[in-house]
Amino acid sequence: MSSIMMIGTGYVGLVSGACLADFGNRVICYDIDKTKIDKLAKGRIPFFEPGLEEMVLRNQDEGRLSFSTDLASSVAESEAIFIAVGTPEQDDGTADLSAVYAVAEDIGRTMKGFKVIVQKSTVPVGTTRKLGATIRAKAGAGADFELVSNPEFLREGSAIDDFLHPNRVVFGFSGPRAYEVVEEIYHPLYANGTAILSTTLESAEMVKYASNAFLATKVSFINEIAELCEKLGADVQVVARGMGMDSRIGPKFLHAGTGFGGSCFPKDTIALVKMGDAFGVDMSLVKSTIGANERQSRRAVDKLRRLCGGSVKGLRIAVLGLSFKPETDDVREASALKIIRHLWEEGASVIAYDPVAGENAKRALPGLDLAGGVEACIKGADGLVIATEWDEFRQLDLSRVAGLLGRKRIVDCRNVYRPEQMEELGVAYDSFGRRSVEP
Ligand code: NAD
Repeated sequence: MSSIMMIGTGYVGLVSGACLADFGNRVICYDIDKTKIDKLAKGRIPFFEPGLEEMVLRNQDEGRLSFSTDLASSVAESEAIFIAVGTPEQDDGTADLSAVYAVAEDIGRTMKGFKVIVQKSTVPVGTTRKLGATIRAKAGAGADFELVSNPEFLREGSAIDDFLHPNRVVFGFSGPRAYEVVEEIYHPLYANGTAILSTTLESAEMVKYASNAFLATKVSFINEIAELCEKLGADVQVVARGMGMDSRIGPKFLHAGTGFGGSCFPKDTIALVKMGDAFGVDMSLVKSTIGANERQSRRAVDKLRRLCGGSVKGLRIAVLGLSFKPETDDVREASALKIIRHLWEEGASVIAYDPVAGENAKRALPGLDLAGGVEACIKGADGLVIATEWDEFRQLDLSRVAGLLGRKRIVDCRNVYRPEQMEELGVAYDSFGRRSVEP
């Protein structure tokens, strides 16, 4: 059993902390946000993630997981210190590393004896090594520590399962003593034969950016193919299935729609371009991926405008789904929010519903009109946009939907339904990369 401090209790820190406690480690989760820590200590989870509450409560009850705002005592009690603070995009596209460096100074000021510092935040290549210099500058030349880069690949919405049963785990090490500590912490994954890559700090950091940029490129690629399918009468879902049957390509991340969002792909792709700029490498593919993605939410509004006869001005549009994907309340870079902003700009009014992300969306878009359920949202609306493919929106009674809508027009941003179903119901319908049903 190892003793761990997890600095930052957001999506990554809290999930990682709870799961590492579940592996049998003793974990102290620390955050500068005292309100968050107070709530967590009382068993209140600050965001929606399936299975997380149960796991936090169980590990708290069993005495392996605790919450603290006392930096010095948490550092003193922990052999390994994980950093999982935010690294958001700055105005110029580079990653904001202020929280990461603030934490490095905190660790340097308070550490005594040997520590393993594990970087879980997504940081530009070279950052973990620089953190070492920051820690040493505060702790003194004799400071005894080793560094690990341990990028996190969990997906919001299935974060617990992703952490417990990962496709792979990547570690970059600065020295051999860190390896022993990490092996002990992650013992269940070493024991069950999980694919584990041990490498240098820099390669580990790059694996994270390269993986995210590659998946984002798959999404933008299929969206570009989808646009061409619409012109040429092909069906992108069939095309994607045919492509995915090739094991060299695989079926994942080939879903046409309004593109990628969330807290990672948008900021990590632009940060990679900026890394290239800093070292004179033109990341032209990644730039194209970002550019193609930026067009997608606008394309959804183009489709709706066309179904509405050329303008949405003065119309009341219902939007189903606000989170950037199902099973999360995270609305960072959600295409639903971009679509709503475009609709407002064009003079439409919007009423929206999401099973869990409504309040977060309202914080991002003050003035957003929220409905309490699907029926209240769509009743009497002049058009409907299905923006996120929550299961609840995959199982709609379409004839009831058609009956409730004031005007039967649907833009399906996630290709949840089939044009034939809409044709039968007399609904004007458009999706991505498939034939439309004209009014
Ligand atoms: P988040 O914004 O949800 O949480 C960050 C937490 O860090 C907050 O609770 C904040 O209060 C805390 N914090 C900030 N400064 C601090 C400081 N000086 N000391 C202590 N705590 C501090 O962020 P997140 O989504 O969990 O992402 C964390 C990192 O993990 C980012 O680098 C992100 O790119 C990466 N990541 C995120 C995901 C994801 O799906 N969210 C997946 C993989 C990797």
